Amino acid sequence: MEIVILAVVIALVAVGLVGGLVVGSRKKKQLPPPPPSTPTITPPAEPQVGEEAEAPRDEARRTIDEVGLPDATAPVEEAPVAEAPALEVPEPTAGRLVRLRARLARSQNSLGKGLLTLLSRDNLDEDTWEEIEDTLLTADVGVAPTQELVERLRERVRVLGTRTPDDLRTLLREELITLLGPDFDREVKTEGGAETPGVVMVVGVNGTGKTTTTGKLARVLVADGRSVVLGAADTFRAAAADQLQTWGERVGARTVRGPEGGDPASIAYDAVKEGIAEGADVVLIDTAGRLHTKTGLMDELGKVKRVVEKHGPLDEVLLVLDATTGQNGLVQARVFAEVVDITGIVLTKLDGTAKGGIVIAVQRELGVPVKLIGLGEGADDLAPFEPGAFVDALIGD
Ligand code: GDP
Repeated sequence: MEIVILAVVIALVAVGLVGGLVVGSRKKKQLPPPPPSTPTITPPAEPQVGEEAEAPRDEARRTIDEVGLPDATAPVEEAPVAEAPALEVPEPTAGRLVRLRARLARSQNSLGKGLLTLLSRDNLDEDTWEEIEDTLLTADVGVAPTQELVERLRERVRVLGTRTPDDLRTLLREELITLLGPDFDREVKTEGGAETPGVVMVVGVNGTGKTTTTGKLARVLVADGRSVVLGAADTFRAAAADQLQTWGERVGARTVRGPEGGDPASIAYDAVKEGIAEGADVVLIDTAGRLHTKTGLMDELGKVKRVVEKHGPLDEVLLVLDATTGQNGLVQARVFAEVVDITGIVLTKLDGTAKGGIVIAVQRELGVPVKLIGLGEGADDLAPFEPGAFVDALIGD
């Protein structure tokens, strides 16, 4: 009788193993290992069901005598169950800017607080207005927006007559928000087509935080319930693909990558193809940004864009700029805008020594909104840009 039970148990185990192998091979079918010269798709680490099934199968071949009979009184030892690596749950995106506000405020005292102090002076003479202008220029606001703002402030202060600190704060807040363009559509577009995922291309000079931003953006999307495929088309910087893949693995996003120095356009193309194949919501493509040869950059980015668009139109081309580089960032913005149609700007490192005015200047320069800002090296330190919360951080509320 016991032998019969054991035989049934062995039969069930064998059936289970075959089932596991089928699941394993089915998974592998979805992701065939491509030849080494073509881009490879690296799935996030997941339990290899088929491999684990190999070991116990040998046991099933042993004779019943070798196996011995189970001791009913012995404590049952559970076979270790392969656990999927714990995926991180990114922070919700709503209210991120408010959470990260303190970081912004730390580096921006010279702008908001400085302006308020100057505006509160009893005697708002020409020298004071000049100081206000200098404060704005030093904060990277740019010449034209500075002049506009000073003009508006002069006019409104005149109309106001007596100035209480609250009046001034409200006035400055309103004018700064106006300058930031409250009507810009700052949503990162990821809708895609009926059969195709949303495709976002991330461009910028190396070192600005492009790869980090792509990884953080994947988390933003995952936090919003979207599935993401990453395309590691920065084949110029050796560690970029590994870096991106690590970001992806943390939230369960696949990374499509190729050999170092490989063709970025073909990786980008394959990433979108993979996104379509697995029904992903969004494909994010990290690109290389070598500025020393402008023609090379134009050729490369233009080609990546054209090739990706064979699958359908791009939803976004996000330009990543390091906010601490000030005027230099504006020069970069100009060059990239010549190469591809930028649809949104990501300003990184606003937690550092950056001057907040660059937000205003770069939007003016490109006529394109800042959509996201980077406020630290932490995984969730990327926030949707909100003019009101940004200005509150500058001048305090
Ligand atoms: P890439 O060459 O443009 O892809 O640049 P990386 O993504 O490798 O980033 C370069 C460095 O900038 C890394 O050390 C990042 O951690 C850092 N970085 C990126 N974004 C931010 C940010 O918002 N704040 C700070 N403090 N550091 C950042």
